[in-house]
Amino acid sequence: MRRPDPTAGVRHLVFIVTALGVTGVAMGEPKYDLLLRGGHVVDPKSGVSGVRDVAIAAGRIAAVGPAIDPKDAFKAVDVSGLFVTPGLVDIHVHVYAGTGEKDSYAGDNSVYPDGFTFRAGVTTVADAGCSGWRNFEDFKQRVIDRSRTRILAFLNIVGHGMRGGVFEQDLKDMEAKPTAEMASRHRDVVVGIKTAHYEGPEWTPVEQAVEAGTLADVPVMVDFGANRSERPLAELVTRKLRPGDIYTHCYSGLRGEQDASGHVNPGLLEGRKRGVFFDVGHGGGSFAWRIAAPAVTEGFLPDSVSTDLHISSMNTGMKDMLNVMSKFLALGLSLEEVILRSTWNPAREIKHDELGNLSVGSPADVAVLRLESGEFGFVDSFGGRLASRKRLVAELTLREGKIVYDLNGRARPDWQTLPRDYKSTGDPRWDAYGR
Ligand SMILES: [Zn+2]
Repeated sequence: MRRPDPTAGVRHLVFIVTALGVTGVAMGEPKYDLLLRGGHVVDPKSGVSGVRDVAIAAGRIAAVGPAIDPKDAFKAVDVSGLFVTPGLVDIHVHVYAGTGEKDSYAGDNSVYPDGFTFRAGVTTVADAGCSGWRNFEDFKQRVIDRSRTRILAFLNIVGHGMRGGVFEQDLKDMEAKPTAEMASRHRDVVVGIKTAHYEGPEWTPVEQAVEAGTLADVPVMVDFGANRSERPLAELVTRKLRPGDIYTHCYSGLRGEQDASGHVNPGLLEGRKRGVFFDVGHGGGSFAWRIAAPAVTEGFLPDSVSTDLHISSMNTGMKDMLNVMSKFLALGLSLEEVILRSTWNPAREIKHDELGNLSVGSPADVAVLRLESGEFGFVDSFGGRLASRKRLVAELTLREGKIVYDLNGRARPDWQTLPRDYKSTGDPRWDAYGR
């Protein structure tokens, strides 16, 4: 049962006030712009997992409590039966689209983010090294500054970024100093340094990335490229990386993540003890049930769930963030464990503690999720399927307090209750849907 819309009277009052030319504030405007009522809040930072109301004002979380008076809100939305979580934080995507460059992650292999994020509850992404110091500013003006998704970025240690083999195997274009300088110049957006796809035996890409990360005081994310005996995985995570650095594609099985006996590589466990983070980075070829399932059984859970979104993962086993999260529900993690690894943990890995939580004062990036029961199946990067009875779906997504996605129109009135000649509904105080 839907509650009657408690804001209907308020909207009517505002209409009259506006018509009289009197400010709404003078008439006692409600203090909250938007109220999400009756949802089950999962906020790992605060440890809350229970039914709470969430009030939003001026784009920030204003109150979280058991019974917030809807009269205090300009707009209230009933989300009972749903889960209210921080907006999801996906720290491994590829979104440097639009350059027209073929076979390049600084081009056609990337996707524009907004069509993939909000519909999966994601409000923040970090591009994982599509650009380097030579083309980051092009990426920024082309995509970052024009998207409604909050976009952060790991800067590739390769100056040209992920433009393909000729560029990405060129050791001469892996320079710590200009990379660190560009990272420092854009500290609001650049959250780390990335090294990826390297096929040679040298440690140079990792060493230069770590040096750049040290100079700019940001973490390094490693896609360890080809599996080379000259630079074993255990040495990477136990000696080369610093605490706080991130190893992505941790369930790929492509670089010895699992040892010959079928157990987690002991080096990964030691790396974790040192403070190295392990990220999923599902992608088109980096998630295998035969690696992930035994690892989870042994207690080697990911620190962060991420998609590695790009053109080869978007329609295959990966699909979207909620699909990857649902895979970890299928492996037996609790919803709270999965939300932690998709919000607060990744926010901390990229040192953006204001994100991934529902603390009062934090940006009101919020996901409202439905946990569906039914007959579902999840496919890994190698065509293996796992059946499951649970799946997460995004119902509503809020970006800085505005509704940017509303699957079932929960924030909308029945059209038959509207004036015969209605042209639009909503209010910029809470609504960015379609704008
Ligand atoms: Zn990637």
